Amino acid sequence: MAVNHKIWIRNTQILTMTGAPLFAGDILIENDKIAVLGQVSEEQAAGAEIIDGRNTIAMPGLVNTHTHAAMTLLRSYADDMELMPWLNDKIWPAEAKFVNEYIYWGSALAAVEMIQSGTTTFADMYDSMHEVARVTEESGLRANLSRGCVVFSDPELKNIQKNVRLHENFNNAADGRIKVWFAPHAPYTCPPAYVEKIVEAAKSCNAGIHVHLAETLDEQRQIAEGYGKTPTEYLNDLGVFELPTLAAHSVYLNDNDIAILKEHNVGIAHNPSSNLKLASGIANIPKYLRAGLNVGIGTDGCSSNNTLNMFKEMTICSFVQKVNAMDPTVLPADSILQLATIGGAKVLRWDDEIGTLEAGKKADLILVDLNKPHFAPWNNSVSDLVYSAQGSDVKTTIVNGNVLMKNYEVLTMDVEKIMVETARIARNVL
Ligand SMILES: [Zn+2]
Repeated sequence: MAVNHKIWIRNTQILTMTGAPLFAGDILIENDKIAVLGQVSEEQAAGAEIIDGRNTIAMPGLVNTHTHAAMTLLRSYADDMELMPWLNDKIWPAEAKFVNEYIYWGSALAAVEMIQSGTTTFADMYDSMHEVARVTEESGLRANLSRGCVVFSDPELKNIQKNVRLHENFNNAADGRIKVWFAPHAPYTCPPAYVEKIVEAAKSCNAGIHVHLAETLDEQRQIAEGYGKTPTEYLNDLGVFELPTLAAHSVYLNDNDIAILKEHNVGIAHNPSSNLKLASGIANIPKYLRAGLNVGIGTDGCSSNNTLNMFKEMTICSFVQKVNAMDPTVLPADSILQLATIGGAKVLRWDDEIGTLEAGKKADLILVDLNKPHFAPWNNSVSDLVYSAQGSDVKTTIVNGNVLMKNYEVLTMDVEKIMVETARIARNVL
């Protein structure tokens, strides 16, 4: 990073997500941090790269709290199926053919899609995670990475060791943009002794846990039959929640489960599209929020969504909760934006650095282009961000003070090459 690298975003409208209303002003970024919000003088901005912010909203970059980036390769490959046949007959056999190179290109495709649709941080659970780390370094994104561990493909516990090595090699790498956690895939793929091994390894690295939890009724039944517990009780009894934990889905939580998660400050990654598409169910997000749980939004992988577009995810999240409660006042636009920004940052235990626009925080922000017919006549721009915005309205994406996309041009990745390579891989594998 150049010494005293400055960016001056002029004449934008700023949505800090700290509770302050939208206001007109400038943003000055110095190196990796936000230096000034509001009035910036010529003197302060001396030598800065200038970005024209007219007709844009500057807001915190979106935090995708749960995905499997390389699954872009399986986009539209197996749709309209039930979860278990979908996994057993289509997804897992295809993934068994994946080699490191495939994971690299699939994740690169995901990175491009995220940069173009305003995601600046993502939490990823997959295989060959050193390739995802490489993509994170090159793309400029921020990420929480973990090696998905499933007992049947890991008889010698090598995958747990791979996660330990991932931690050694990449935790805090890329100017602090990468954090490495551990990932027991799910209660139904990780028996007790295996979960305990992962918890032990995570503890020794002082890392957190990323896990799928209580995604389906089937899982609920399986864990009840096997252990006489809910999936939440199962993980709790194995000591998982003693570590910082991100629990994806959490569709089926009873009151006792909610109390357990609250007691241990477990964060929830809510994946509305995935839960709807796979007909898993509807997580009662308003109830979780009332109980004081930290909730973020995730897209899940591209084969269960089929995009990484967090703007779409925000709209769906809001609509589903409204109809589920039969109450249109549930989760208004501002709370949805909170879930997608500072809520997600809290779930990833990264809210000291990201999730809001504040002087001193990391410069992770996006400029949304308001100069589009579907925003006119600009009656309420906060509402527009949740109910009208498309991922493709993101004009500029900045992470850690580095411009990853400027005026719709991705600067860190070769978009055309990535699309050619992923098409080649999909032809080979599928
Ligand atoms: Zn998932």
